[in-house]
Amino acid sequence: MDATKLMVWIDQDLCTGDGICEEIAPDVFEARDDGLWVVKESANHFGTAIVFDAGEGPGHGPEGSRGVARVPDSQIEDVIEAAEECPGECIMIEPYDAQIMADRGV
Ligand code: SF4
Repeated sequence: MDATKLMVWIDQDLCTGDGICEEIAPDVFEARDDGLWVVKESANHFGTAIVFDAGEGPGHGPEGSRGVARVPDSQIEDVIEAAEECPGECIMIEPYDAQIMADRGV
């Protein structure tokens, strides 16, 4: 598993749906069926995949500020670039928060 110093989430209310984030960091950002983008933790970085798309069942998590994904250290520069390029200014990067992971049961 990758180490992680940062976490990231998207405010879907501000997302313009252009997909620039996924072009820059496809391991962290993914399109949802409604044309908005969400964050994810990829299995190749964390062993288990989870997409924070408000979907039902295993492998899905809440959207918005409640859907906070760990950023693999190898993806930090790309995630920061994505946030800088995001036209909606809706990619929120935060320090790693152990309490969020404890609440998630990880
Ligand atoms: S770059 Fe920002 S506005 Fe564009 S799809 Fe990604 S989160 Fe949405």
